[in-house]
Amino acid sequence: MTGDAGSQDRIRAELAEWVARHWDPGMPLREWRELLADSGWGAPSWPERWHGRGWPAWTDDVVAAELIALGAVGAPVGLGMALAAPTLLAHGSDDLKQRLLRPILTGEQTWCQLFSEPGAGSDLAGLSTSAARDGARWVINGQKVWNTSAHHADMGMLLARSDSQVPKHRGLTYFALPMRQPGVEARPLRQMNFHASFNEVFLTDAVVPADNVVGEVGQGWAVALTTLAYERRFGAMRPPAYDRGPGRALDEARAEAEAHFAVYSWYPQRAGRADLVIEHARSAGVADDPLIRQAIARVVTLQRVSAWTAERARAARAAGARPGAEGSVGKLALSNLARESARAHAMIARAGALLTGPDSPLGGVIAEVLLSVPAQSIAGGTDEIQKNILAEKILGLPPEIRTDKDVPFSQVRARG
Ligand SMILES: Cc1cc2nc3c(=O)[nH]c(=O)nc-3n(C[C@H](O)[C@H](O)[C@H](O)COP(=O)(O)OP(=O)(O)OC[C@H]3O[C@@H](n4cnc5c(N)ncnc54)[C@H](O)[C@@H]3O)c2cc1C
Repeated sequence: MTGDAGSQDRIRAELAEWVARHWDPGMPLREWRELLADSGWGAPSWPERWHGRGWPAWTDDVVAAELIALGAVGAPVGLGMALAAPTLLAHGSDDLKQRLLRPILTGEQTWCQLFSEPGAGSDLAGLSTSAARDGARWVINGQKVWNTSAHHADMGMLLARSDSQVPKHRGLTYFALPMRQPGVEARPLRQMNFHASFNEVFLTDAVVPADNVVGEVGQGWAVALTTLAYERRFGAMRPPAYDRGPGRALDEARAEAEAHFAVYSWYPQRAGRADLVIEHARSAGVADDPLIRQAIARVVTLQRVSAWTAERARAARAAGARPGAEGSVGKLALSNLARESARAHAMIARAGALLTGPDSPLGGVIAEVLLSVPAQSIAGGTDEIQKNILAEKILGLPPEIRTDKDVPFSQVRARG
């Protein structure tokens, strides 16, 4: 959050006055969200023409926190608001913005991200799901994988190959894919921490209207980079605290958040639970062990570094910068913090860290931390890929040698 204290106070006062006139906890959630969209309070940083107020990005955080403080409900959480909307605002046609932004803001449509494939993760531009033009529509065939929430999403951010006769980065197109159709099958995957938050998605003659191309045909890589830049800004997700009593809108918002966060319930553990390290050491009776104290000091240091890095990225965004390579610094900081926290928890619990169930350290939370932390360094682009980005974009080091960059994709596949 940024903006001087006076500006923040003025925004809070204006919002409080508006909420006093319009909020009724007994109203349907949808009706309230329509009011948020009409007034621009749902996403103040979006342009006025598209349900916002054209305000700086930091105002989104101020308004979201204040709506909750006032006992009201804010915009929905999820990949629609976090990734699809900023991508559409940056690259979508007016027709797409007209059709897709408002249902994101009202919570009517949820989104998932259909990028990774069994043969294309870090090398995302090497993906092979095909998109073939057929009159006023595109027909999609292929397989995606690791797609969080795809089993209940309405729309997918789909990256597919529309031309394999040009080099790999130039033959991609970005689509807004309707998920609820016979050609789309999402199969949940069971993880080693027992959760099932992501899916394999099989696309068999799935259909997308030609008007649902985001950006230009063949320019999908640039559009995908926007989505990825917003993704790297993600921190640990937390459910909004809609705890101010009964009321239809509040009940519906709680149910919406519960459904959404069911998939993310292990994400705090994935982030390492640095917040539990001191309590864990005390409850295990090892808080005076010098080696454990060193491990804890390291966790606290990394926690501060990570928070300051996130603050710096927010300040850059508030100053009007689009998310860029600093997202990679932030993502690496979160990975380092997660690993060090898991290490400290393992030192404290020793062999007991592997136990689950009510008698295990912190009721099984520590075992879940150890099984979940590796995902932090993979999701949204691996640590190694973030380091490559930093080396090339910030340090100006020579780029990786890429022999497949300038030849038609069809020849890369033939050689592979
Ligand atoms: C929790 C979670 C949620 C996810 N959600 C989604 C989602 O919603 N949608 C979606 O599309 N995807 C999602 N993913 C997939 C994620 O984006 C990919 O797993 C990630 O990009 C890595 O790709 P990969 O798994 O194919 O690994 P690979 O690319 O096969 O990498 C294997 C190893 O090789 C290393 N490596 C690869 N290339 C290089 C290189 N050039 N230089 C140095 N090292 C290299 C990697 O760092 C890694 O250690 C999710 C993943 C996780 C863990």
